[in-house]
Amino acid sequence: MHKIDMHTHLLPEKLPDFASKFGYGEFIQLEHHRAGFANMMKGGVFFREIGKNCWDPEVRIGEYAWYHAPVQVVSTIPVMFSYWAKPNDCLDLSMFLNDHLAGIVDDYPEHYMALATIPMQDTDLAIRELERIKELGFPGVQIGSNVNQKNLGEAEFFPIFEACQSLDLAVFIHPWEMMGEADMRKYWLPWLVGMPAETARAAASLLFSGVLERLPKLRVCLAHAGGSLIPTIGRLQHGFNCRPDLVAIDNPVPPTDYLGRFWVDSATHDPRLLRYIIDVVGEDKVCLGTDYPFPLGDLEIGKFIEEMDLTVETREKIFHKNTLTWLLGD
Ligand SMILES: [Zn+2]
Repeated sequence: MHKIDMHTHLLPEKLPDFASKFGYGEFIQLEHHRAGFANMMKGGVFFREIGKNCWDPEVRIGEYAWYHAPVQVVSTIPVMFSYWAKPNDCLDLSMFLNDHLAGIVDDYPEHYMALATIPMQDTDLAIRELERIKELGFPGVQIGSNVNQKNLGEAEFFPIFEACQSLDLAVFIHPWEMMGEADMRKYWLPWLVGMPAETARAAASLLFSGVLERLPKLRVCLAHAGGSLIPTIGRLQHGFNCRPDLVAIDNPVPPTDYLGRFWVDSATHDPRLLRYIIDVVGEDKVCLGTDYPFPLGDLEIGKFIEEMDLTVETREKIFHKNTLTWLLGD
């Protein structure tokens, strides 16, 4: 069955030395220290080792062929967002990454689609880059779950979401700069516990602030199956019911009314949870998304979904139809 993986990350093989170029900051650098591998360095400190399948489009196509998945939707690695940088420098970095992704799509149009990155810390510059990447043919953008710890429901971000709706661009929300990270470094907890909470935080902020209410045509997809949002949706609804004075202050619509409005990817690593999520958000709103090529990803590209007792029709929706609707609209 034709598979599109809508959650994958790709970097250029070589990155400019942005810290020297801009004269400050812990911009990511790549050190190619051994054949086929590179260390991502953040402010001179080791962040993560990546392999060739993080930058080589042909190696990736080969790996995906093994799992009968010909199409990848690529986006940058969230640590590249750099919302902390000066806005113009982040725009410069975003344009570099976006032009690179556009080049991959141009070179391999049958295998790649791409999501752009934008300088969320500056509303006007973010919208300017949205307009540019729309011209370049991008179907959407990937943004972080918070912007310098500001929540996505803050008023300053609304014009960005409004522009995404009017430009017909899909939005992928990916956790990054996890809350509480400094307090729980041991056991990889920022990634295992912080990331799902971040995604829930971002989504709850969009729901309760009324962004989805005010922008009914905005197409949002949440990474990692919505993180802890869906497993706690009953709690959100109960909180809305029992303390409207705290929760229903900006939007009178209950959070459960938005189930079926947004998309989520399939990266649960647990068929029971995926079945529950299909039940809660609907089989039209779950997209194959793996987080390839990183170790926490579903690196058998949806094999566990193939093994689930789903109808062919449901599998077709998850494996490609829902992603096309999310990215391109009806
Ligand atoms: Zn990811």
